Amino acid sequence: MSLVLTVDGDRWRAHLRGVAERHPGLVPVVKGNGYGFGLGRLARKAQWLGVDTLAVGTYDEIAHVASRFEGDIVVLTPWRPFGTAVEVLDDDTLVRRVIHTVSRTVDLPDLLGRRPDARFVLERLTSMQRHGLAARELWALAPTLADHPKARLEGIAMHLPLAQGSHLSQVGRLMTDVVGAELPAVAGARRIWVSHLTDEELTSLRASYADFEFRPRIGTGLWLGDRGALRVTATVLDVHAVERGDSFGYRGRTAPKAGHLLVVSGGTAHGIGLEAPTGDLNLKGRAGTLARGGLDALGFVRSPFSIDGKQRLFAEPPHMQASMLFLPAGSRVPAVGEQVDVRVRYTTTAFDHVVLG
Ligand SMILES: *Cc1c(COP(=O)(O)O)cnc(C)c1O
Repeated sequence: MSLVLTVDGDRWRAHLRGVAERHPGLVPVVKGNGYGFGLGRLARKAQWLGVDTLAVGTYDEIAHVASRFEGDIVVLTPWRPFGTAVEVLDDDTLVRRVIHTVSRTVDLPDLLGRRPDARFVLERLTSMQRHGLAARELWALAPTLADHPKARLEGIAMHLPLAQGSHLSQVGRLMTDVVGAELPAVAGARRIWVSHLTDEELTSLRASYADFEFRPRIGTGLWLGDRGALRVTATVLDVHAVERGDSFGYRGRTAPKAGHLLVVSGGTAHGIGLEAPTGDLNLKGRAGTLARGGLDALGFVRSPFSIDGKQRLFAEPPHMQASMLFLPAGSRVPAVGEQVDVRVRYTTTAFDHVVLG
């Protein structure tokens, strides 16, 4: 009845270990839906990996990881003077473990006014243009830091875009800003938290800036880096033979030809969505498909479910907990209870359960 993620545990753990060994200073990113595995499970895995710090996306995610991971927790969403970011400052045990991200000059004195011993990284704006301080804003914070001797600067954070060519020239320019900022002479001023650098780029940066410590934040490449260790399956829940012209579904659609309707587990509640229509969408292409009797030309849309290695079409848009597929006559009809493979985007899928072997 479920949409299930099955993990080849030995293979997955070997991959996680390998990534950790190749990335000294690794900061696993544990955010959102936990990359499909769930936040709690990934927090325990980060503990098992033996890292000293993990990163969450939001302040509200802290509660999901804090009791499963013993180390420090970096919050990637920058601190703001409202909401959970402020509430967390009242928790004396958590305050020692949480590392805030400061991305605006006004926020640093505000945060330190509330918690003089707060731990934080200063985020430098990159070509991503999401959050972060401009070079002169970073420089302007040096006096604030000098005025707050208890403040715990833990590093400079840079969030780089997914690689389109090398990041090295950009990181080089950003490093020049860091060096020029005249931050206090604490270890954190020489610690750089980065994302989306290739192994070669990290090696090159470590050689160029030997007196800095680089901490790579990795989510996708860590948790989802070995897709061969993962399998997503749905279950056939029902099969109905239909003749051409039979109506079915919420909208009383009619079957374009004889075949089978297949009801499989997994629907909109799991994040199963419509995929791009198959084939050629221009008029000429559609006419050609129609002439061949192609179902896509009749508005049937490709589904992420595949049977016998062939991606199948939705009979109609996915329902909340199940989906209806159309199987044209002549295809092998799977039995109720049989598993079918599903291609999903892990970061937007809610599995009913995860089977970790
Ligand atoms: C999500 C995120 C990451 C990790 O990204 P992946 O592509 O999943 O490795 C790193 N840094 C920041 C700031 C992020 O928001």
